[in-house]
Amino acid sequence: MLVWLKKLFPSARAIPDELWRHTLAQYLFLADRPAQDQARLRTLTAQFLAQKQFSGAHGLVVTDDMAVAIAAQACLPVLNLGLKLYDDFKGIVVHSGAMLARRHVVDAAGVHHFYKEEIAGEAMQGGPVTLSWQDVAASSEHSARGYNLVIHEFVHKLDMRDGTATGCPPLPTRQAKTAWQSSMQAAYETFQHQVVMAERFGAEMPWLDAYGATSPAEFFAVASEAYFVNRSRFVQEFAGLKTLFDGFFKQK
Ligand SMILES: [Zn+2]
Repeated sequence: MLVWLKKLFPSARAIPDELWRHTLAQYLFLADRPAQDQARLRTLTAQFLAQKQFSGAHGLVVTDDMAVAIAAQACLPVLNLGLKLYDDFKGIVVHSGAMLARRHVVDAAGVHHFYKEEIAGEAMQGGPVTLSWQDVAASSEHSARGYNLVIHEFVHKLDMRDGTATGCPPLPTRQAKTAWQSSMQAAYETFQHQVVMAERFGAEMPWLDAYGATSPAEFFAVASEAYFVNRSRFVQEFAGLKTLFDGFFKQK
């Protein structure tokens, strides 16, 4: 039950020590952050919880543990940017596991295709973020691979601040945008090539999730997951993106 959260709303109160300790212990990439980052993350997480509305799908009860775990991971990308970047939505919908999303696409011939796709999460422009709890709970064991569902979906939210997700979030100047696009495009094309070589010609699969090769927006989300949960390997694999991401996320 959302026992503590109900008491917390509508103003942000400090997250109880035990609950915060438990969250850090569950997610080692949070436990590994410097103490001062953790303290700021704890404050930001409490503010996030006060501003957002969690709901469980199909009768799922979102506990305090679950809400704090999701909020803390969601706040990591905006730790030095502020919660304002998430002010275009309120809802976070939690499903117990993967969900089926209805899709509708119109192909080049004008034929409408309706189908269902299994997804672990989804971010809607100006709308809620949907997450599979099963995948959130597995975040710690997946961080060696650079996976993190919550960071993935919330980075899409950052990307969507200026329209549909394109792989380029809002940047202060045209120069910054050009620099971003050229670095990301080069890294994306190299990654796409590595995935094609692995899938078609038996070369070794690259470290990052191959899903990142599907579009520049997915590449940005997938690369950001790795940047936040396995920085050392990220730097090894994507040396060219480190400075770019450090600058955008204002991280050191
Ligand atoms: Zn995505």
